[in-house]
Amino acid sequence: MDTYDPHIYELSSPGKHGTNLPRLDVPEASLPECLLRRDDLNDFPELTEPEVIRHYTRISQRNVSVDTTFYPLGSCTMKWSGRLHEEVARYAGFAAAHPLQGDALSQGALRLMVELQDLLGEISGFAAVSLQPAAGAHGEFAGILAFRAYHLDRGDHERVEVLVPDAAHGTNPATAAMSGLKVVEVKSDARGNVDLDDLRRKVSPRTAGMMLTNPNTLGLFEERILEICEIVHAAGGLMYGDGANFNAILGIAKPGELGFDFMHYNLHKTFTTPHGGGGPGSGAVGCTTALAPFLPGPCARRSADGGYELFTPEKSIGRLKVFHGNFGMLVRAWTYIMSLGEAGLREVSETAVLNANYVRVRLNDLYPQAIDRICMHETVLKGQISGAKGVRTLDIAKRLIDYGFHPPTIYFPLIVPEALMIEPTETEGKRTLDSFIAAMRAIAHEAVETPALLHAAPTQAPVRRVDEVRAARQPILRYDAAAFAKLREG
Ligand SMILES: *Cc1c(COP(=O)(O)O)cnc(C)c1O
Repeated sequence: MDTYDPHIYELSSPGKHGTNLPRLDVPEASLPECLLRRDDLNDFPELTEPEVIRHYTRISQRNVSVDTTFYPLGSCTMKWSGRLHEEVARYAGFAAAHPLQGDALSQGALRLMVELQDLLGEISGFAAVSLQPAAGAHGEFAGILAFRAYHLDRGDHERVEVLVPDAAHGTNPATAAMSGLKVVEVKSDARGNVDLDDLRRKVSPRTAGMMLTNPNTLGLFEERILEICEIVHAAGGLMYGDGANFNAILGIAKPGELGFDFMHYNLHKTFTTPHGGGGPGSGAVGCTTALAPFLPGPCARRSADGGYELFTPEKSIGRLKVFHGNFGMLVRAWTYIMSLGEAGLREVSETAVLNANYVRVRLNDLYPQAIDRICMHETVLKGQISGAKGVRTLDIAKRLIDYGFHPPTIYFPLIVPEALMIEPTETEGKRTLDSFIAAMRAIAHEAVETPALLHAAPTQAPVRRVDEVRAARQPILRYDAAAFAKLREG
């Protein structure tokens, strides 16, 4: 660590305080013995109000976000979260609604849910939508449980395998395994598509379904998507669409019409709801009429009296989340879709794809493309710079921090060596893209001429290069004076 902020416990000294409680104007009550603290309150920090405020404000200023900088984290779609969406989510009727107040007093909220279900269904070409799941991975889990339930419902007990391409996001095989099914890996071909020969070899009467991201994690549209769906369907399997890359095809292609049976929408990616440090997200799911009875519930629908009500689909896999999903996220996504309309959504994808290709073309003389094709909303390059010795993608990513940019996703997809996955999103204008491109080009030259700069990076950030393995394996999750002192020494 380069610049060291004293921990709040170290600022403490006995007798300081930051609160002035009003004088007691009610009779003093005595607490029952069982509620009294028995041990001394060791190490409780004692500070003044300005010390506390400054401490937390300083920490908050270390946050990197789309509010402060370009954030091209591939596959994550770190797009702008419009302030309008925040304002609408704060309306008292939404923000202060109690989940137990019942349908009669929740008509506005239920109407919003019904409308969002309809909008997502329309945009993706699916007959039914559930807003329950809290993340993309949670939506995947819903989908694979629904596949299993669908097969069992038809008396088909042998389908225990899920086909997953080798380029897939880690959540896909993890989902299949968590659902108790077996993962069967399918290879990619030289053009970055699913290898159809390998698919034909691996599909069988044991196939419950296939999980596929389109555009895939190489940022490429599956050129033979219709054939892939046909092959899996012909074998009795179902197609799961990982919708994380939906930002590339809004208003242009509908997964439901391409042959997918079920998909999740990452509302915190495509539909601007904040990612918020890993949560709360929303991984709403859509599906065909045949799978609708298995959706997680409750879902919302129009009632016979012209109002709105909750219901649980007939053969539902059950509830995945308390109450109604992450409702505040649903409000933001609804606002986003309504404020853009059909033409606006299409423009989002067109701009996102144009931005990614602009970056690709301006960088691929220095950073080779993983697959030489026009990309969709993100491009996968390789940090293998000609003439640079001992420089890895990690060094390039860390050096970008010194230039004031959040690094792209690195080392994913796993099938690309030294991968750099750049997703600019439609948020950015040409000026930002040009300065990012200039930084990437400068770093490529540094990699050849002054590689030590890259190995030392980041030098301009409050925290220098951390030991990521140790941080994950031996995290220090609470204040420990001895551990902190040791860290500070080096
Ligand atoms: C983000 C992502 C997921 C998982 O979504 P979460 O909302 O993070 O759970 C799955 N697949 C791909 C391709 C992704 O980019």
